[in-house]
Amino acid sequence: MNEAWNDFTHEHGPGIQGRREILKSAAAVFAAPMLAGVAEGAQSPQHASAAAKGPFPARAYGVAGAKAPFAPMRIERRALRPNDVLIDILYCGICHSDIHIARGEWGTSRFPCVPGHEIIGRVQAVGSSVTKFKAGDMAGVGCIIDSCGVCENCQADLEQYCVKGWTLVFNTPDRVSGGLNFGGYSDKLVVAEHYGIRIPPGADLAATAPLLCAGITTFSPLQHWKVGANQRVGVAGLGGLGHLAVKLAVARGADVTVFTTSPGKVDDARRLGARAAVQWGDAEAMKRLENQLDLIISTVPKGYSIQPFVNLLKVDGTFVNVGALDDLEPLSGRALISRRRNVAGSVIGGIAETQQVIDYCAARNIKADIELIRPDQISQAYDRVVNKDVRYRFVIDMSSSKEAA
Ligand SMILES: [Zn+2]
Ligand SMILES: [Zn+2]
Repeated sequence: MNEAWNDFTHEHGPGIQGRREILKSAAAVFAAPMLAGVAEGAQSPQHASAAAKGPFPARAYGVAGAKAPFAPMRIERRALRPNDVLIDILYCGICHSDIHIARGEWGTSRFPCVPGHEIIGRVQAVGSSVTKFKAGDMAGVGCIIDSCGVCENCQADLEQYCVKGWTLVFNTPDRVSGGLNFGGYSDKLVVAEHYGIRIPPGADLAATAPLLCAGITTFSPLQHWKVGANQRVGVAGLGGLGHLAVKLAVARGADVTVFTTSPGKVDDARRLGARAAVQWGDAEAMKRLENQLDLIISTVPKGYSIQPFVNLLKVDGTFVNVGALDDLEPLSGRALISRRRNVAGSVIGGIAETQQVIDYCAARNIKADIELIRPDQISQAYDRVVNKDVRYRFVIDMSSSKEAA
């Protein structure tokens, strides 16, 4: 018997369906290996079936308001709809977007807020119509958990450009119930199977989690602009997104130059496979690179003067912003027409392309450089991300919260 299950049941009192009961019941139905430790005694099939459908009480870590520190919370995950899967979360990455929303910096925050959109876990139960997953499978969930499904962009596997707007995994109303969605800083998640990503056997789960946002965000422009060998790629900003942009561009044979504000990251850039690293503001280096690059991926999370970077593009070259949401500085029209240059934007990627980046990286052993933390270290980790003091992604080990529970 695991003491943790007991504690949980006690906290809820005798009148409420406890997690221990749910898990025991689920084990009776799904008999998944991970439940072996809590399977004890026979349960009636009727009871098991009802319990396995939820709703499910879950532990989470969130903030009550923009200035509040992270604290443990109790939340409820919805009852399984026919196409839903219940995921027992193992790891969740920390993305800068989580920080912006948890701290109310975009003006879109709803509280309480449980962030987290780089989620990996084990499928614990599936709804009656699910075909993509079965209990015991590893599954990932990124930013998108819903979209209209019928518009031209959804039909083209571009859910991230759904004309009716897609639903972020947290800080959004559920499209069916209207209730507030909570993200991956939690021990459980219920999501429609279409938005779940299959995680190949043998993947390094913790280091794969960041591929679900940082990875797909940088993979998608490399795909769209068909980057290959003999092309020169610039990566502006060497953080969570930037370090994966370097790895993914190098994997395609591109010649990569990194632009970083952190002198200490110049050596890192080379270790990651970049051929050159330029310190932000090095005018001489920028002059040497003029008209040289095919594609620049800007991962910088805020607006800045992009003209010096646009000047580095060769004919038909593209500067693609995947980070900043606020204004980019005015651009010289002359600089654009003189080389038929493009300035573009790109956001994450569709579900099919997210599956593609996961499979691509698993086949090539590409993963994020991570620092694994416990849930009680989230607030500290946020401060370190803001201070650019992480190499290169924090990932929360949700199983450590279960042990401590
Ligand atoms: Zn993100
Ligand atoms: Zn749509």
